[in-house]
Amino acid sequence: MSPRPDLGPKPRLGYCDSRIERAAELRTDAAAIEGLARKPGAGAYVIGGEGIVMKKGSPLNEPLFTIDEANALSPATETIFLGVLDGAPRFGHGLTPQAAEALKSRGDLLVTDLRSIAVQGLVEQDHLPPIAEAKAVLHWHARHRFCSNCGSTTRIVNGGWRRDCPQCKAEHFPRTDPVVIMLASSGEHCLLGRSPRFVPTMWSCLAGFIEPGESMEDAVRRETREEAGITCGRVAYFATQPWPFPTSLMIGCHAEALTHEIVVDREELEGARWFSKDEVERMLMRKHPQGLTTPPPVAIAHHIIRAWLEDEISFD
Ligand SMILES: [Zn+2]
Repeated sequence: MSPRPDLGPKPRLGYCDSRIERAAELRTDAAAIEGLARKPGAGAYVIGGEGIVMKKGSPLNEPLFTIDEANALSPATETIFLGVLDGAPRFGHGLTPQAAEALKSRGDLLVTDLRSIAVQGLVEQDHLPPIAEAKAVLHWHARHRFCSNCGSTTRIVNGGWRRDCPQCKAEHFPRTDPVVIMLASSGEHCLLGRSPRFVPTMWSCLAGFIEPGESMEDAVRRETREEAGITCGRVAYFATQPWPFPTSLMIGCHAEALTHEIVVDREELEGARWFSKDEVERMLMRKHPQGLTTPPPVAIAHHIIRAWLEDEISFD
């Protein structure tokens, strides 16, 4: 085994380590939330569908608007109370996707998707967690305007953290969908796959939704078997990452591969193969001879792969 080179300080995982205090105790007090919105320093993230609205800047853009600025852009479909940052309230100001699209014509604004913002570092990194929070909740509202129990129109309450049905009295809460994302490995080799959606050079961890009645460990084993035909044994939890595309929580794991012969599910993956530690190291350092890469540092897959490469995880 060759000694591994120093990959440098660990980059920050995107959308994590929010500095916002969610202040959930204020959500039921509509008057208090309205008062907060009038406070100096109150700010709102303006989001319409996949479009995040920012004031153009250089080198970084500014995604935080005053409440008056946000209202002037377009009236809110919903307003979400995100919490408080150093005493300053923060809100999510929802637009229709069409309204966000229309703002693209303005020269002083930049409207683009959150993945691009995170990967290209278009805003100061502390803005990513509250934008992820706002985007996920606003997406949930856009798809839960009617009661799933009786079909009546629901109304937004609790600062945007619940919708109530006036007819059958059901209460609906924003949901998070758990996804396992895992790196199966055996000794000096790990299993990476390629989705047809990836940029042509990128290989990453396998991933899939946890199904109802399924443990995280069982989901890791099932998805790895279904997508690549590999049987896994032990599963170790690594870390999680909010993934607001639209409302997932990525649960990062390492898994012990017990078999070696790969059978690729072509419905899910374009390819899957074993990579040696030497090859993965070159991919992480962007020095692979064929230009192959791992996902960027904002994504948890990068961290899962790096932890395995740096021998933080071993099933030996
Ligand atoms: Zn109902």
